[in-house]
Amino acid sequence: MRTIMAIVEVVDETALELAHAARSLGEVHLTAAVFGAEDAGCAELARYFDRVVNFPLSPGAVFDAEHAAAALTPWLAAEQPFLILLSHTNNGLDLAPLLAARLDLPMLADCLELGLRDEQLTAVRTLYAGKVHARVVADAKGGALATLRPGAFDGDEAIDRGGRIETAAVPPGPPARRRLLETVAAEAGSVDITQAEILVAVGRGIEEQENLEIVQSLAAALDAEVACTRPIVDKNWLPKSRQVGTSGQSVSPKVYLAIGVSGSFQHLGGVKGKPFLVAINQDAAAPIFAVADVGVVGDLFDLVPLLEEKIRARKG
Ligand SMILES: Cc1cc2nc3c(=O)[nH]c(=O)nc-3n(C[C@H](O)[C@H](O)[C@H](O)COP(=O)(O)OP(=O)(O)OC[C@H]3O[C@@H](n4cnc5c(N)ncnc54)[C@H](O)[C@@H]3O)c2cc1C
Repeated sequence: MRTIMAIVEVVDETALELAHAARSLGEVHLTAAVFGAEDAGCAELARYFDRVVNFPLSPGAVFDAEHAAAALTPWLAAEQPFLILLSHTNNGLDLAPLLAARLDLPMLADCLELGLRDEQLTAVRTLYAGKVHARVVADAKGGALATLRPGAFDGDEAIDRGGRIETAAVPPGPPARRRLLETVAAEAGSVDITQAEILVAVGRGIEEQENLEIVQSLAAALDAEVACTRPIVDKNWLPKSRQVGTSGQSVSPKVYLAIGVSGSFQHLGGVKGKPFLVAINQDAAAPIFAVADVGVVGDLFDLVPLLEEKIRARKG
């Protein structure tokens, strides 16, 4: 059976996405290499992975790509996995090219989809700041490495796999050449729609920037965040950080309200994790209705204030 190694930076949803992406490639033996995880974190990973190998953090007790690469390179060279997966985060992007160069492996970065055809790894990636989608292929006969965009893949299901937990013995490496000076909290007011449980997404049906107010008000009533389609960002009505889609954010809320959104595949490509999807659109033939759990055909300018009123009345 083929072995896939997932390099896990932190025990969170991204680790489960790596597991899910790996298992979607067929019957595999799945190992997680994690750095400085607590016992509980290792136990959590063992529910999703067949084997968990815990590596020590760098002396500064933070994740450092140079330290991780030094520890992982001989281990991976000995294990000879078929594929190495990482999340396309700052740290993942720091580490992946180091590993690819040292292990002489082809690397596919920022993948939105991953597949396997014979001995070839196939992927979909965005190019030119998301303006173009490219299908790419890597010869994986001698192994390959890929980084996956966080949120682009579903998380693995909670099947307890009872994975074996090991601690890697790593000889102390050379002193770190880089240091983390400080972490700076995101500016007040900046929003992370990837973490929202409820999203109210607005599309071109809103017609004018001033009209966004009704959607923002509905979102406030629902304790939700506002998201949007790309045309709304192109018009500078909302910041890019709120755009959902293949060239925007991948989100996985519990509830997704799509208001005046047609449902292009580029937009829906960013809606992951099968949320309960409610669509309001005046065109009964809009593609969004094909994926909606509840579809309301009507004018959003009538329906959105009405919905808000009902929600506020229910909340008392
Ligand atoms: C390479 C590439 C990448 C892209 N990436 C993204 C991406 O990341 N995210 C993204 O969203 N798009 C992306 N797009 C654009 C995408 O193709 C669509 O053009 C876009 O998603 C459409 O946005 P929309 O639904 O807001 O607008 P439209 O497609 O114009 O839909 C507006 C909808 O509002 C409805 N409507 C109008 N008035 C009302 C009303 N009064 N009441 C109710 N409904 C009404 C209409 O019936 C219509 O269905 C990308 C395109 C390309 C080429």
